Amino acid sequence: MEFASIKGFKDILPGETETWQRLEAAARRVFRPYGFKEIKPPILERTELFSRGIGLDTDIVAKEMYSFPDSKGNGMTLRPEATASVVRAYIQHKLYKLDPVQKLYTIGPMFRHERPQKGRFRQFHQINAEILGDPGPKSDADLIVMVMGLLSTLGLKGLSLQLNSLGCPQCRVQFKKTLNRYLAQKTDALCSDCRRRAETNPLRVFDCKVEACKEVVSEAPSILEFLDEDCRHHFRSLQEYLEDYKVPFILNHRLVRGLDYYNRTTFEIQTERLGSQNAVTGGGRYDGLVKILGGPDQPAIGFAMGIERLVELMEEDQEQESETPDLFVAGLGAKSERKVFNWVNELRQSGIWVDMVYAPKGLKAQMKQADRSGAKKVLIIGDNELEAGKGVLRDMTTKEQKDVPLDNLLETLKKEIG
Ligand code: ATP
Ligand code: MG
Repeated sequence: MEFASIKGFKDILPGETETWQRLEAAARRVFRPYGFKEIKPPILERTELFSRGIGLDTDIVAKEMYSFPDSKGNGMTLRPEATASVVRAYIQHKLYKLDPVQKLYTIGPMFRHERPQKGRFRQFHQINAEILGDPGPKSDADLIVMVMGLLSTLGLKGLSLQLNSLGCPQCRVQFKKTLNRYLAQKTDALCSDCRRRAETNPLRVFDCKVEACKEVVSEAPSILEFLDEDCRHHFRSLQEYLEDYKVPFILNHRLVRGLDYYNRTTFEIQTERLGSQNAVTGGGRYDGLVKILGGPDQPAIGFAMGIERLVELMEEDQEQESETPDLFVAGLGAKSERKVFNWVNELRQSGIWVDMVYAPKGLKAQMKQADRSGAKKVLIIGDNELEAGKGVLRDMTTKEQKDVPLDNLLETLKKEIG
């Protein structure tokens, strides 16, 4: 029997992991001066955490979760998103008591049982950042400026920031009625899910991926017309911060996002390059969630960034130059090999990338392997060289060779390699 990874679950192989590391390192570097700290919640949680947090009528909870009972019959779910877990941890460990405003980020895998296709997997990865305990709008602007800053340090072009406000539950009462009336005239054009949603949770229709529904929604009334005084002011003020900092955005009143917990600010960052899976980041304010999950009444805002989609963009942008060893050391003969083992490891522990063979091989075979490894230089030390107290250092690009004394070899090599 041959084993292969499960459909929608993929191996991330060397060659690609370097780009992942670059992205993650950039995120950590960009988040730090904003005062964000890393949190690492577990991947498995009680199912209720998500069904209560994300909302029963969302695609995620209705059809995408990997859920199963544990041996005691408790519902367990592989997390489909990170916010609910971060909020659970914020409540469970009373992080709000340390400081009411907590800025947290997390990087890791998410699981959704959706149809695998380009840019869509069943295990995928996100970078999430959340500001808990502040009502905004300055924190909304801060978070958006930070995420745009991260994308710009990655050198990504052709991205657009779409911005909307969903108002608060009060604004939505009137809007839902109006939307409901509008959708009632269009039921024939809607998919069966949306026909149901039109009754129960009409905002969800905005998030439907079915073409016909998208068309219906393109002429739907705008939530922005229904914002009350406070929500309007919040949204206006956020836009002013973004305008002042010269962050371009596009108002998109159809942007509701696929989770029920959002209110006021929602945003999505899209690229023109990935076809229909064009969203690289989605986020928004979720002022009610901490309370819904049993915590204090604390507002919050956050975003989730899809790593796979960003990595794809980064790889298109850059020429892949894979990293290669700084040095290859070829030993010849039993005595030399033991010495080489020590030198090689001392060099590695001072941070120099050094390769060598494991099984004994002749010089020709070792030079071949050195060449294949892409090592920039090769140091040859046979038993004869050992006796003479000097090795031969060959530059693999210029093919120049020179003797290097074996006394003080580490210092010499560090200088040679820089
Ligand atoms: P989409 O509309 O593409 O399904 P979403 O609204 O479900 O996205 P969010 O839950 O907001 O996505 O997650 C934030 C980001 O995570 C998305 O913008 C996307 O980059 C990424 N993402 C979401 N689902 C997947 C998936 N199945 N495979 C790969 N990346 C994903
Ligand atoms: Mg989705």
